[in-house]
Amino acid sequence: KSFKELGLVDSLIEACDSLGWKSPSKIQADAIPHALEGKDLIGLAQTGSGKTGAFALPIIQALIDAPQAFFACVLSPTRELAIQIAEQFEALGSVIGVKSAVLVGGVDHVQQSIALGKRPHIIVATPGRLIDHLSNTKGFSLRTIKYLVLDEADRLLNEDFEKSLDEILNAIPRERRTYLFSATMTKKVQKLQRACLRNPVKIEA
Ligand code: AMP
Repeated sequence: KSFKELGLVDSLIEACDSLGWKSPSKIQADAIPHALEGKDLIGLAQTGSGKTGAFALPIIQALIDAPQAFFACVLSPTRELAIQIAEQFEALGSVIGVKSAVLVGGVDHVQQSIALGKRPHIIVATPGRLIDHLSNTKGFSLRTIKYLVLDEADRLLNEDFEKSLDEILNAIPRERRTYLFSATMTKKVQKLQRACLRNPVKIEA
């Protein structure tokens, strides 16, 4: 299959092309058509499968249709992964100038608050630091978020982020799309899935 056959618009196909992505990976081919139909997704996939593109492309396509600040929130278990995700969003979304803010621990709060003040489209965060900004950064909220991504959900749950996750889920409107990606499907992941996805489509890399 080609990116075009998945239902992506020309500007995004060009963005894939300029990154050297000639054809979709399996997880992208399976996920993107469902995502574009507005379904929630559960993806069983590891890093290296192209999972970031699988959720970033449909989110950017929705953003092209209805541009808006604080449009999507992506939760990552680690700082490094968060940075990579934000880079992919900006590279794939460069045609429309997609802006992201990375909220992770070990980095100056003030810089992150300034980034939030620029009203980014995409927030990529580790749960602890996101909670921190929700409590302490004036004017910042998740009330307009339309897309939530739980990336590496098994690790999110392992790293003791459960309490933070609850708080974040309460801060994001229920009227949203949710994409959960995980390398393994543990009991805890299934519980999280039941708590925050609606009639999800399940796909595997
Ligand atoms: P990920 O699994 O999302 O961390 O992606 C792993 C790597 O594969 C990243 O460097 C991506 O830029 C690259 N990648 C993602 N999708 C494709 C694709 N369709 N074709 C070629 N490379 C890709």
